[in-house]
Amino acid sequence: MANLREYQKKRDFKKTSEPRGRIEKNNKKLRFVVQHHLASHDHYDLRLEWDGVLKSFALPKGPSYCACDKRLAIMVENHPLSYRHFEGIIPKGEYGGGTVMLWDEGYWSLVNEVRKPFGKEEMKIIFMGKRLKGKWTLVPFKENNWLFIKEKDRFENWCRLSLFTRSIKTGYSMNEIAREKTEPKQKDWMVQGIEITSPDKIIFSLGKVSKYELVRYYEKVFPRMFPFLENRLVSTKRCPDGVLDHSFYVKHFDVDVNPGMRHVKLTNDKGEKKDYAYILNIGGLIEEVQLNGYEFHLWGSEVIRLNRPNMMVFDFDPDEGLGLVKLRQGVRDLKAILDELHLKSFLKTSGGKGYHVVVPFTSFRSWKKFEDFAQGVAKLMVQKWPRRYVMSMSKKGRKGKIFIDWMRNKKGATSVAPYSIRLRKKPTVSMPIFWSELDKVKPDEITIDVALKRLKKKDPWADFFYIQQ
Ligand code: ATP
Ligand code: MN
Repeated sequence: MANLREYQKKRDFKKTSEPRGRIEKNNKKLRFVVQHHLASHDHYDLRLEWDGVLKSFALPKGPSYCACDKRLAIMVENHPLSYRHFEGIIPKGEYGGGTVMLWDEGYWSLVNEVRKPFGKEEMKIIFMGKRLKGKWTLVPFKENNWLFIKEKDRFENWCRLSLFTRSIKTGYSMNEIAREKTEPKQKDWMVQGIEITSPDKIIFSLGKVSKYELVRYYEKVFPRMFPFLENRLVSTKRCPDGVLDHSFYVKHFDVDVNPGMRHVKLTNDKGEKKDYAYILNIGGLIEEVQLNGYEFHLWGSEVIRLNRPNMMVFDFDPDEGLGLVKLRQGVRDLKAILDELHLKSFLKTSGGKGYHVVVPFTSFRSWKKFEDFAQGVAKLMVQKWPRRYVMSMSKKGRKGKIFIDWMRNKKGATSVAPYSIRLRKKPTVSMPIFWSELDKVKPDEITIDVALKRLKKKDPWADFFYIQQ
């Protein structure tokens, strides 16, 4: 049986904040993490759950999506399962002293027959991570030395992994993680020196919600929300004076105002260069709230693959007074079509009048193909049920029907981010819910308090980033 003796012997738990850990058997899906570890040598650690521990490999050069790269993977001592949450600093002079970043996480499974995994036989593995996806092989060749090689599949050359320089958990870079050592007791976003001005300001004249409450909300929701914000261009809706009618969308952000935001220059159809931005970490999110940006809206692609969209949204906009029964039927009709196409979809409230159905994709080849697919699905619904649905925006044709807004899937269009607050008299949240809750949860019933309570329960979208379709 696997043990942690070597791991525990090597470390002084009075000095390091790494977990002592224990053997934790479970019969759920097998988990994995990759940690970027800047110690005496800069390397990556691949850790795979097996037999109650994390089987561990040090990868001096990290993984590569090129099937031509054979990356050395040195098997090292087992780590405890709780190590998969570890991000931070190992004190200088201690074993592995340096900085550790959570670089990827997810599930894995073995696809070839191996008598004794992690022994002397080649292992073919499928990764379902945020950054590691598809088939890979671990080939043992000498003592503890293995080779880690990408197999040829649709993920081959998926992206350059060196582009990912930030934590999947916090969005922090190696330097930012290392810097926290100075201010360990501070709130994460305080590290960035953010001060909230007029925290008592009542943002929603009727809702009596203060700016401080909104900051607190985003602070708490950050771990769940961040994976959606990460690498996605964002627009926000700002409401500087607390009057809802005065709120406006911001798509282009001033440079050098928010250190937790990164800017990207894009050229539009007219050849004009425009500045867009995405949020890097909790500091970036909170600073935008400080600037009175309360709603967050996202693109369908990520900046590292800007022209390979991967998050499709169908927005249900019912005609006024249509009623929830018909609205929910519409959402179910779409789900039936997606189910038939073997596409897994996720449901959230819009926080306003409708629901949003979100479909994660590995990636489409182009925005045109992405948009055409979404339009095709909407068209199918209109053809099947012409008295229920329309696919054009005009309010006229919508009488007694639902507008299936597929146009959210055009390049440059946005839809509201999961967990974003909605600027309403009584602020609501665009909340991920289980499919089984469709008939129970109204589009605008999740308020900030309810959303925070729901965070303590099971995540209805837990699989979102691990779906490969
Ligand atoms: P509801 O359920 O009340 O319709 P919604 O979020 O779906 O809420 P819509 O008006 O249908 O709101 O708009 C859909 C999405 O389009 C929004 O979430 C937002 O991201 C984007 N959007 C709408 N209006 C604008 C605008 N003026 N500028 C930029 N983006 C917009
Ligand atoms: Mn809508």
